[in-house]
Amino acid sequence: MKLHEYQGKEILRQFGVNVQEGRVAKTPDEVRQIARDYGDAVVVKAQVHVGGRGKAGGVKFSPTPDKAYENGEKILGMDIKGLTVNKVLVTRAVDIDAGVEYYIGMIVDRNVQSFTLMASAEGGVDIEEVAAETPEKIVHYRVDPITGLRPYEARAVAIQAGFKGNLNKIADMMVKLSQAALARDAVLVEINPLFVDASGTPLALDTKFEIDDNAMYRHKDLADWREMEAEHPLEIEASKYGFAYVKLDDGNVGVLGNGAGIVMTSLDVVNRAGAKPANFLDIGGGAKAEIVYNAVKLVSKDTDVKAIFINIFGGITRADEVAKGVIQALKDGILTKPVRMRIAGTAEEEAKALLAEVNSPLIQMYPNMFDAAAEAAKEANAASAAASTKTVENK
Ligand code: GDP
Ligand code: MN
Repeated sequence: MKLHEYQGKEILRQFGVNVQEGRVAKTPDEVRQIARDYGDAVVVKAQVHVGGRGKAGGVKFSPTPDKAYENGEKILGMDIKGLTVNKVLVTRAVDIDAGVEYYIGMIVDRNVQSFTLMASAEGGVDIEEVAAETPEKIVHYRVDPITGLRPYEARAVAIQAGFKGNLNKIADMMVKLSQAALARDAVLVEINPLFVDASGTPLALDTKFEIDDNAMYRHKDLADWREMEAEHPLEIEASKYGFAYVKLDDGNVGVLGNGAGIVMTSLDVVNRAGAKPANFLDIGGGAKAEIVYNAVKLVSKDTDVKAIFINIFGGITRADEVAKGVIQALKDGILTKPVRMRIAGTAEEEAKALLAEVNSPLIQMYPNMFDAAAEAAKEANAASAAASTKTVENK
């Protein structure tokens, strides 16, 4: 789960990190009020789950309360990389030119099977850019998850990164950042920029904080921070049904299967057949007709989907239950796109009999998954091609 800047800052504050003062606003009037309360220049900052807000026009320095109001008006409602800004953080501005901008962060690092602390004197800008162009400017240090980051290790990293200022204070901030990351099961915590003022004191101006979704049961106090509007509407609907569903970009074949492994395979098979999967959908083991019905309904709603590939290996899942669910969707007028299925195993013959009875060209069964996927891919691609010709004609 990705946190907003103001939420990540709240956690860092709880761990004793020196964080720039700020308050959240939802209207330009609130923005102006906060600026008046501070009696100082402020920065108005879009709260959306993407990086690079500054470059996208979502972070604006505001010298007066009226300017803050104006910037609030501009930023609230703004679209940043497909996300609408509903909230801004209004921070008490610092004089960046009177100090330096550094970077510190900690991530779960598969390569070292542990956490890696990163530090760079090249903060403020895109750290990804630094990593790509001048990787030697980022210090990497493996952190033991049992002991955590110890102060002497943090000081050594600060020195190696070439940090100037009060190195004890900066190292202390690294230790606190790592404590927050470990305690909150974070997969990523960054402070960028880490501003160090003329007296050498560090201050966190921005943070990215992401918590491992699989650890959310240990952080029930943060459950309210999960925001549904940030997810795809179909993913929200899928979570209501309890499906493991992921919407995929640029796809045209809806995919559903029983089990994560078979669905992953199905995505590969669709790709190999020359089309692109529009989603991942695992209906789980032992699904009854109603679950299949809901799954077909969900995938059919996706306007990207031009054909559906169903891949079931019947063990505890009965093929006839799958067939019943698909047939009911057809009868209810929900199913309007071709379904190409491979259902093998338990009750396969019963499923075949049920489908033969319905005898609809929209639902076809194939003896193996390659044939079913190839057919779905062919039809989806034909429909996509027809649709794109239509849009060209309309222009
Ligand atoms: P990001 O673009 O999403 O990473 O958002 P940041 O919070 O990092 O802000 C982008 C840039 O705005 C920073 O790199 C700073 O240069 C600048 N900035 C942020 N806070 C302040 C501030 O208090 N004063 C000044 N002068 N600039 C700031
Ligand atoms: Mn930043």
